[in-house]
Order: sequence, then structure tokens, then C-alpha cells
Amino acid sequence: MAQSEVQEESEKKGLNFVEEEVFNDLKAGKNGGRLSTRFPPEPNGYLHIGHAKAICMDFGVAEKFGGTCNLRFDDTNPVKEDVEYVDSIREDIHWLGFDWGNREYYASDYFPQLFDLAVRLIKEGKAYVDDQTSEEIAAQKGTPGTPGQESPYRNRSVEENLDLFMRMNAGEFDEGARVLRAKIDMASPNMHFRDPIMYRIIKTPHHRTGTTWKVYPMYDFAHGQSDYFEGVTHSICTLEFVVHRPLYEYFVKELADESYCPRQIEFNRLNLTYTVMSKRKLLQLVKEGLVAGWDDPRMPTISGMRRRGYTPQSIRNFIDTIGYTKYEALNSISLLEHAVRDDLNRVATRGMAVVNPLKVVITNYPEDKVETVTMENNPEDPESGVHEMPFSRTIFIERDDFMENPPKKFFRLAPGTEVRLKGAYIIKCDEVVKDSEGNIVELRCSYDPDTLSGMAGAARKVKGTLHWVSAQHAVDAEVRLYDRLFDVENPAAETERDFREMLNPESLVVVQGVKVEPFIARNAEAGAKFQFQRVGYFTPDADSTPEHLVFNRTIALKDTWEKVQKKS
Ligand code: ATP
Ligand code: MG
Repeated sequence: MAQSEVQEESEKKGLNFVEEEVFNDLKAGKNGGRLSTRFPPEPNGYLHIGHAKAICMDFGVAEKFGGTCNLRFDDTNPVKEDVEYVDSIREDIHWLGFDWGNREYYASDYFPQLFDLAVRLIKEGKAYVDDQTSEEIAAQKGTPGTPGQESPYRNRSVEENLDLFMRMNAGEFDEGARVLRAKIDMASPNMHFRDPIMYRIIKTPHHRTGTTWKVYPMYDFAHGQSDYFEGVTHSICTLEFVVHRPLYEYFVKELADESYCPRQIEFNRLNLTYTVMSKRKLLQLVKEGLVAGWDDPRMPTISGMRRRGYTPQSIRNFIDTIGYTKYEALNSISLLEHAVRDDLNRVATRGMAVVNPLKVVITNYPEDKVETVTMENNPEDPESGVHEMPFSRTIFIERDDFMENPPKKFFRLAPGTEVRLKGAYIIKCDEVVKDSEGNIVELRCSYDPDTLSGMAGAARKVKGTLHWVSAQHAVDAEVRLYDRLFDVENPAAETERDFREMLNPESLVVVQGVKVEPFIARNAEAGAKFQFQRVGYFTPDADSTPEHLVFNRTIALKDTWEKVQKKS
């Protein structure tokens, strides 16, 4: 991109600190003015909302400055990796609205070059084979204040090192028997420089390279070089890699020159309240059946959020809101939920559903009469049109919307009071019918026939408006009400209890016999977004069929968490 264009671009938009660094590099003509980033997931789990933050950064900065972003699978540990994860990662990035074109790469693509580089470093006396166990090596590491101890194998001859490394890769030795280490400095104040491990022996077949390799590079030996082989100019990652940066640069310098050198820049991770972000813990939840799978709608995974009904736009808006800094923080899940409500309010189709139905018979309405009333699909979207909804003598209202002995400011239905049925008539409660145990089973009401839209009494005011469905037309559905997965704010910070003990037992409540209006039933396709009026935002679940409708509650209309907390 021409410098003048770059200039213009930066002035137009407020840049975050990473974008500013990138902008300055482009302005200075580094790497020939080229910009290339990468998103480097390890295919050892599904992506979560933290990864979305990295994706928005890596792809976003490339888009902003006319560069490209590669997708690179960091597949250096066959023990934990799987193609299922590769596929899910691709799907999730696309769903978020980003594309890597034909630039899909794998760290395993570079195993031959990495191996060659390791051999070269051995020949140059910069790497050696260590026969000690990982425990012994760890014990010699020293502490940041005290130097480490040199391995007794550190000064092996080049020939012996070469021979052993080849035999390691030929499968002659057991896993853990030997490692290849960089020979740097056991007294370095940076612990990562104390002869870091470059290669270890793994005998599990790799999902792409099969049994070709018996030695696999460690992250620090693979990442920077992979960036280099791909021509990545800006390797953007999270703050825990700050301490790795000197080693990143050390290894990259073995390859790069002034004409092109990748640069690592770090930003703060996304941490969210009431959930965990560790892939290891998420995997545990899945494996132990504590959730229904990686895409369980309570999971902080992208696939879980998609299944729950979150929109990609809401996730991107949330990430924009929290921004990128150099300081670790814990972000409130309320902010994410706010972004979800905001976007759903814009796009969701309004309909009526009664979650906890109470039968209402309108005694002065003719037995077999059916009228249709017209409902707006989305008042936020003038293009969205209207739909028709049947009205008849027997309807359902929400049980909560009636009280036999209401407190003063209860503006919903009570004996002798009036409410408007949204989009239809005003009704008055005349009689409460109970079963032998005293439970309310039915209300008998009368309607004011003059109060439908367009009639003389249409404008007559009553205090409450209720949602409702016609009993004979309503369709039964199952509804899954989700709440936060954990009931403590920061499960990762609790040291006393195992994280699984902090799961919220009420994170999923299943309700059967929910009554939805026919329009909702007809339009319950995968991905549809509804606002059940006065109830919340809902989407059909993957388990939903026309015979058995299942809806996930994406989110309630208002943030009720605070209230719930106070009650309990
Ligand atoms: P692990 O390495 O423990 O398996 P990870 O969450 O770091 O887990 P990776 O697949 O290595 O998973 O992550 C890919 C990219 O996503 C990395 O660049 C990483 O920095 C970034 N990333 C991971 N978690 C977060 C987070 N919570 N916030 C922002 N970026 C993240
Ligand atoms: Mg990682």
C-alpha cells in the first residue's frame, strides 16, 4: 500500500496500540511495506471467545491496512490434536466473518525445514542432545535469581549429537529418553534462555504426517520459524508470550536478515467472569459429561455461542468495546450479554410464546369464532413487515401474569381487573377456577369487543399489556433456559475448590409444554432469531425438529442476574 494511503487510513480510524505499531512499521517501509499476520490455533480443542479476540485482531489489522492473514494450525503435538478440531476451527472463523483465502497452513508443513535448521544448529555447536529426564532438566533450571546448572551432556561432540538426534527421529529411543536442547546460557536472567528444549520424542502418529516423524518441535522452536517460512511480518499474540519474545527473536535471527524479519507484538488476553477460558478445563467439562459437548450453549466456545443464538456481530461488537491493552483484566460477561441483546433487538423477529401457560376462557366470545390480528415482525426494522396471529375464545397467558391477591403496583391480571392482550382486545378477569387442591387451573374472563385496533375503543387505556397465544392454534415446544455456567465470578482464581464444584446447578432449566404461536413454529429454522415478547430472545436448537420443537433461550430481555444474586 502506498504511504499516502497508509497515512490516510490511520487518520480516518482510531487505532489500537497494536495497529499503531503496525502502521508505524508500514510507514517506515519495513519488510518492503508488506503486512502479513497469522492466526495460529493449536487444533487441540474448539475455539472460545478468547480466540475470537485474537481472530478479530489478526484478521482485523490485516483488513484495515490491506494486508493478509494466514490460518496456521500449530499442530506440533499429535497426542492432543485431532481433525475434528481443525474442522471446527475453520467453521468458527468463517462464521465470525473472516476468511484466509487459500492461505491455510500447518506447522507440520515446516517439519522438514525445522529439522534441517536443528541439524544446522547442532553442526554449529548451538544445540545438543540431553539424556536426562524432564524432571532432572527442570531441577537444574535454577530460579530467576540464581543461575541454573549445566547438563552433564552439554559438551557432547557435534558427531555424537548428530548421531543421537538422527536416532531419536528413527524411533530408537523411548519417549522422554532424550531431548534436543539449544545451547544458550544456563545463567541467563531470562529463564527461557536456559538451554530450552527444541525437540522431544513422541511416538503417537500425527494426524497429517503419520509416522514420518518421531521427534516434534516445541512451541518456541516452531512458532517464530513458521512465521518466517510463511513471510509473516507481524506475529500478534497474547501477553504470556512477552517473556518468550527474546527466544523468538533468537531463533528467528538464525534465518532472517534486515530485508525481512517477523516481529512479535503482544496484547492482553480476554478473560470473562462466570466462565473459564482454559482449553484443558473446557475439555474436562466435555469429557466428563458435565456439559453436552463443545457446542453446549453454556460453553464460552464460539460453537456454543452460535448454538445458543449469539450473532457474530454481537461478539465482534463486544470485542470492539473491550479493546486491546497491555494489561491483564477480567471482563464482565454482562458486557457481552449487553452486546448480544443490542444486536438481537435489531434483528430478532417478534412473536408470542407462553412459557408457563395458564388457560383463559373468554366467556362472551363466540365458541367457534376465530379472528386474525396483525403483529409487527420487528419495530426496529421497518422492512420486516407483519404477520397474522389467530385469536379465539380460549387462550393461554403466562401464569406469572396473574395474581389472585396482587400487591399494590401489580398492573397485570387479577380478579376484577383489566389488561390488554397485546395486539388484541382488553379483557377482564371475572372468575378464578381451582382444582380440588386449590391450584388455579383456569381464569374466566370477558372481553370488550370494541377494543381491537381500528375500533372505537382501541385507544382505551389499561395499565398492563400481556402476551398470549390462542389455545387451539398454539404449538407445543420445549424451551431450554440457560444461565451462567459457573456461580462464582472468577472460577480460575479460586484456589480452595476444584473448578467443577463451582458449576452453577441452575445453568440449564428445561421447560416442556411451552405454547408458541403458529408463526414461530412455521419459521423455526436453524439460525432463526426470535424475540418471544416480554420473555426473551430465543433460537431453535440443533435438536429441534418440526415434530418436537426445541428453543434455546439466548438471553433474557433484561439482565436479571443482580436480582437473582440478591434473592439467594
Ligand atoms: P493452549 O495453548 O493452552 O492450548 P490457547 O488458548 O493459547 O491454549 P491456542 O490454540 O494456542 O490456544 O491459541 C491460538 C491463539 O489464540 C494464540 O495466539 C493465543 O494467544 C490466542 N488466544 C488464546 N486464548 C486467548 C484469550 N483468552 N484471549 C485472547 N487471545 C487468546
Ligand atoms: Mg497457546
